[in-house]
Amino acid sequence: MSGMEDAEIERVLREYDVFQAAKAGLLIPCQEIVDRLGVGVLHQYDREGHTPLHWAALGGHSHVVRFFIECRAPVDMSARNELGAQPIHWAASGGHVPVVDLLLEAGAAIDATDNKGCSPLITASQYARTNLTGYLLGRGARYQLVDREGDNALHWAAFKGNAEMCRLLIYSGFNPKQRDNFGQTPLHLGALSGNLNCVKVLVEQEVELEAVDFNGNSPKKLAEGRKHWETVRYLERSAARNIQKSVIPIFDLQSVIFGPPGRRKTTMHFMLGILIFLAYPTYFLRILPTVTLEGFPLANLIFWCANFVLWVNMIRTHNTDPGVLPRNTEEYSDKIKAVARYDKWEDGEENPLSRLCHTCRCVKPLRAKHCKIINRCIKRFDHHCAYVGNSIGYHNQHHFYLFVASTLVMLWTFHYIAYQTQHQEAKQDWWLLFCQMICGVFTFLVTPLFIGTTYNAVKNLTTNEQVNFRRYEYLKNSMGQFSNPFDRGAKENLKEFFHLKRSVEEVTTQNPAMSV
Ligand SMILES: [Zn+2]
Repeated sequence: MSGMEDAEIERVLREYDVFQAAKAGLLIPCQEIVDRLGVGVLHQYDREGHTPLHWAALGGHSHVVRFFIECRAPVDMSARNELGAQPIHWAASGGHVPVVDLLLEAGAAIDATDNKGCSPLITASQYARTNLTGYLLGRGARYQLVDREGDNALHWAAFKGNAEMCRLLIYSGFNPKQRDNFGQTPLHLGALSGNLNCVKVLVEQEVELEAVDFNGNSPKKLAEGRKHWETVRYLERSAARNIQKSVIPIFDLQSVIFGPPGRRKTTMHFMLGILIFLAYPTYFLRILPTVTLEGFPLANLIFWCANFVLWVNMIRTHNTDPGVLPRNTEEYSDKIKAVARYDKWEDGEENPLSRLCHTCRCVKPLRAKHCKIINRCIKRFDHHCAYVGNSIGYHNQHHFYLFVASTLVMLWTFHYIAYQTQHQEAKQDWWLLFCQMICGVFTFLVTPLFIGTTYNAVKNLTTNEQVNFRRYEYLKNSMGQFSNPFDRGAKENLKEFFHLKRSVEEVTTQNPAMSV
């Protein structure tokens, strides 16, 4: 606007009033109008009951908003109409973080409510403004606020079918089971929206699938009413799975390979149970009398050593802090304030919020990730392993690797000595065959894990990076192709993996090119 000629300004002034100038984000005409008519013009309402600041906020015109605030325009005037929204609500509906920040700094209330009881946080979730939601949570917006109908930000996010927003709110501490004034949970509203991803996010929280609202409707019934058949089928399958789980513990192969979700240690106890109550008694009572220490010293020695390494490293993996990052950091508070004034950000060039974790209220370093299961951010996050009951990160990755490797050696050796027992006795033994079969199932599961973990250690990658490399800018070169900046060659990578050498991230944290 700075290049506007005088004649042009005159023309604009004839055509625009302050409301239109603010709406269009024209700073110079706004300044001219205030110069001519005085700051009182900023206290006026248009025919629909809105102030000039409302319009500037709606358009996300931070330069105009800043000028109005400098002119001491009131920042908390409610619209004179049925809705009674304040400028901050309008800025929230547009997802304009810089404008919201200016208004907050100028004294607008972060939890201001309109006549429907909506706070800026609720408005942001109604309009699917994920980044602004993160920003408001970071600035301390209240979670507990509900609108006149008892709906909070999570209810609205579910109603709008916004899976990403639901995830953000749940991991920020929203209760996925809360009911509104109609007795509806976020799952009821998600079912109405028919967005399957959103419904999945809520079902993963182990909410009650059959909960009925005050009209007697379950989420499934609501989805049927809206003809969201995919959602109906998903809810039916989930309900059936819950019944199976409660009646008979079924053998779920997917859960066995990847470990079931949640923090429960059932998987770990199951594996320990097999070792202690099946493998060891079989070894001592059935195998050792035939495959004796004298006859097969090497096989027995390997079996013992593998078990020793297995136990030590399983305990170490389980007990070692994987690299949990501190919460409520000052850096986070600084960043979240700085984000609002980041000019480039509006154009969507780069999103500085992507490195912030609003749950931990920390700034995630490169390669760190928030683990949904232990609900903390972890330095160089690899994955969560249900077999050791802990997340795998920078500080326990080598223990995990040795655990996997020794498990594999133990399985092979067990297979061999069980075979030798039958061979020596020159007869097949059903019990040993059964043990060998279990051994085979575990070998089938552990082998790919071992190969994958070895590959990643050699390449200096995490499982998370390998699977999701497209999400990470730091794993792409200037052409947008996959490129691993941490790869220093197999030997150096392995040294780093086993903590014999400092990591690439630590060495290069001073290099701004790497700290994206
Ligand atoms: Zn986190």
